[in-house]
Order: sequence, then structure tokens, then C-alpha cells
Amino acid sequence: MSFKDIVGQERAIKILTKSLKENKVSSSYIFVGSEGTGKKLTAIEFTKAVNCLNLNRNLEACDNCHSCNEINKQCCPDLKIVETTKGSIKIEQIREIRKEIELKPFRYKKKVYIIDKAEKMTLEASNCLLKTIEEPPYYAIIILICSKIDPILPTIISRCQIVNFGLITSLKIKELLLSKIDNLEKDKAKIISKLAQGSIGKAFKLSADKEYFIRREKMLDYLSIILPGKYGEDIFTKVEKIMSEIDRIE
Ligand SMILES: [Zn+2]
Repeated sequence: MSFKDIVGQERAIKILTKSLKENKVSSSYIFVGSEGTGKKLTAIEFTKAVNCLNLNRNLEACDNCHSCNEINKQCCPDLKIVETTKGSIKIEQIREIRKEIELKPFRYKKKVYIIDKAEKMTLEASNCLLKTIEEPPYYAIIILICSKIDPILPTIISRCQIVNFGLITSLKIKELLLSKIDNLEKDKAKIISKLAQGSIGKAFKLSADKEYFIRREKMLDYLSIILPGKYGEDIFTKVEKIMSEIDRIE
């Protein structure tokens, strides 16, 4: 796995590799974009690149050194991923970061904290994190990942470098599905790529949902009885699109 395996986020990756190249890595970032667009994957790859012991000329991690291996095996002492517990990120979790961050990296150059679903931080947690973001140790990088930026405290936003993650085109999603899933029919890949609405995460979820296509076939059969001809399929495709829009809004 490396930056080049992340689909459709060339702009975001360019910003990050540029900061590596110019030795201007920020101490705090906000990666913002819809679910399933590769934010967490990019954050992990960025951590690998920052701490890689054998970074190549294109500023890609080698995927083979001690640091890369530890990150791949999710046992790197200098990378911590914080996730929600019972739906939110609580002050205790941030206090723990504040305590740990005082200690220098165990093995590598930088100590990286990835806070996933950062928009779920409680107000207390946000205020607590703000103190660290205001005065981060020189060796620390904090990456906040969120699908919406509005719930993040403006005082945090103003101190972070924002990296936007756009939606992935259905063509790229289709190509990815066909390259990653054995025996996936082209027609199916096309339908999934349209329904995924720019989210690779959603596309893989749909691909794994075998029931979905069985239900779809049944519904199409039913519609072809009450609406003979192509109308049934057209209406069904429209309904699917509306339903996935509603999913996104929720
Ligand atoms: Zn490496």
C-alpha cells in the first residue's frame, strides 16, 4: 500500500507530498470529505511517509522498513488512532493524548495522532485538544478526520491545515471494483459505482451485500409485471438513486 494506491485523491496527496518535499509538515491537519473517500487511509500512508526510514524519491514510503512494517501491522508505538466510544470522542481520550504527547517519539521521527470522526468530539474534548493544538511539541502531528467541518471548533480549524477529499468519480470506482473483486460482472460494477455516490467505502459495502442484488432482481421482476417494458427498470434506477441520496444526507 502506498499513496499511489489511493484512488481519486491526487490533489490531497499532492498537498501532503509537497509538505514532505519542502520539509514543511504541519503539526495539525484536518482531513475533510465524505465517508469512504480515503481520508483515514491517506492519514496512515502519510504517517508512513513521515516516519519511513527509506523514503523514495517520489516521497512514497518504502513499505518495507521497520517503521512501515510496524504501521502496517498496526503496532507502531508512534502512531495512535483515536476512535469514538459509544458515539463520541470523550475528554478522557483527549486527556490521554495530552499526557502521552509530552513523551518524545519512542522510535521514529514523528509521533502521530489520528482522530477519526473528529466531529464527534464533545465540547470538553475539543477544548482540551485545543490546548495541545495551540502548543504542539515539535515532534507531534495531529490529524483530525471528519466528514463535516462545521462541528469542529473554529479555534481548532484556524490552527490546522485543511485538506479536502473530494468524491470519487463513478468511473474510477468501477475500475477499482473490477481490479479488486474477482469475478465481478461489469454490469454489476457499473450499477454499484453509480449507487456509491462517490464513496469507495460504500461501493465495497454494496459489493459485499449479496442480498442486495437478489432483492434488486426481485423488485425488477415485480416492476416488469406492473410496468411492462423498459419503464420499470428506469423507475427502479431512479428510486435507487433517490434512496442513496437520502442515505448520504442521513
Ligand atoms: Zn519505510
